[in-house]
Amino acid sequence: MIQPHNIYIHVPFCASKCKYCAFFSSACANPDWYLYTAKICDEIKYWGIRLGKISVPTVFFGGGTPSLMPTDVFDKIMSEIRKNFNITNDAEITLESNPGTLNKKKLSDFISAGVNRLSVGVQRLDDKSLKFLGRVHDVKTARNILDIAQQMDIRLSADFIYGLPGDTVKSVMQMCRDINSIGLKHCSMYELTIEENTPLGKMNLNMPTNDEMADMYNAIDETLILPRYEVSNYAAHGDECRHNQNIWDGAPYIGIGRGAAGRIYIDDTWYEQMGAYEKFTPINSHERATEILITGMRTTRGIKLTDQIKNIIDIQYANTHPEQITIANGRISATKNGMLILDDLLLNLVK
Ligand code: SF4
Repeated sequence: MIQPHNIYIHVPFCASKCKYCAFFSSACANPDWYLYTAKICDEIKYWGIRLGKISVPTVFFGGGTPSLMPTDVFDKIMSEIRKNFNITNDAEITLESNPGTLNKKKLSDFISAGVNRLSVGVQRLDDKSLKFLGRVHDVKTARNILDIAQQMDIRLSADFIYGLPGDTVKSVMQMCRDINSIGLKHCSMYELTIEENTPLGKMNLNMPTNDEMADMYNAIDETLILPRYEVSNYAAHGDECRHNQNIWDGAPYIGIGRGAAGRIYIDDTWYEQMGAYEKFTPINSHERATEILITGMRTTRGIKLTDQIKNIIDIQYANTHPEQITIANGRISATKNGMLILDDLLLNLVK
C-alpha cells in the first residue's frame, strides 16, 4: 500500500522576466498551452499507473506564473489528477499568481475548477521598488487582486521581498505595517538574493550587509502581526500552507512538469524524481533523513525526533546548545537565535 503523495505542478511561463529571477521560467505569456497540457497529463497518467490510485492531500501549481494558464487548461489538468488519484475531500489546491494576470471572472473560474488557496506575488507595496525589481505590475494592480480575492471563498497569501539596496530597518517596518493593514492570514517574506546571470547580478549594487539583513529579519518578526512558522513564512494559526508543511515534514511528493523535482516513497524506499522520465533514482535513508532535517529545521515546530533523524545527528551537540536547539515532546527545532544561524547550526548538528 503506497502512502499519500502531495503533487507539485510546475508552470514555467511568465509575462516577462523579473530582473532578479533565477527560477526555471521563461518570458512567454502565450505558450502552446495545449502542448503543455498534453505533456503534464502524460506525466500524471504515468504516475497514476506507477503508484496506483493513491490519496493526494495537496496540489500546488507553482511557477513561473500559473495564473497565466487559461482556466480550461487548469480544469483539464485537475480532471486528469482526479481520474488517476484520489484527491481527498479537504485537499488544499494552491495556485501561484501574479498581479495583472487575474480578474474577478478568471479567479472565480479557477475557484470553480478547484483552487481553494491563492498565492499572489505582490513583492513590494511601492512602485519604485517594483520597477527596480523588473516586476510588470504596479501596487494598484496588486491591491486590486488582493481585494477581489478577499471577497471570495478562497484562502489567500502574498509574497514580499525585502533587503533591496536602500532598505533599512525603518523602511522594512513600514512595509510590514502596510502588510498588516491588508489583513492577510498568510504571507511569505523573502530576502532579495542577487543571482549571477540576472540583470541585477550584472549591476554593481550596494546591497545591505549581512548584519543589516539580520536586523531587518528581526524587525519583520517584531512588526508583522502574523507569527512566523518557517524561516520565510508567516501565518495565522491554522492558515499555514499545508502543501509546504507536508513536504517540510518529510511527506512524499510528485513533481510534475519540466524542472519539477519530487520525492517518491515506494516499499520502504525513497526515490529522487524529476519529471516522469528524466530521473528516478533511489536515495538512501541517511540522505533522505538529512533532507528532512534541513527543511524541517526551518520550521518553528521542527521535526519529529525519529530513529532515522537520531541516526544522523550529534545528539550531544543538540543537548549542549539550548540557546540554538530545543528538544521537547519528541521533536527537535531551532530556537529564534538558532534560526538566525541555521546553516552553521546544521553543519554542527549533522554527524
Ligand atoms: S514572476 Fe516570479 S518566476 Fe516569473 S520571472 Fe518574475 S520572479 Fe521569476
